[in-house]
Amino acid sequence: MKGKCPDCSAEIEIADDSIEGEIVVCPDCGLELEVKKDATGKIELRQITIEREDWGE
Ligand SMILES: [Zn+2]
Repeated sequence: MKGKCPDCSAEIEIADDSIEGEIVVCPDCGLELEVKKDATGKIELRQITIEREDWGE
């Protein structure tokens, strides 16, 4: 099945046996996303907020 990156809208392949709470990384923007399932079993990707040092680009 596929999920969608909430940030860049890239389609992300998710294994059918993925469990809730599994972490996937968006191949396009590198965002870390947590797999969530709603009541109907539909996969949803939620951005994980991670405190990270500002790289000061
Ligand atoms: Zn992305």
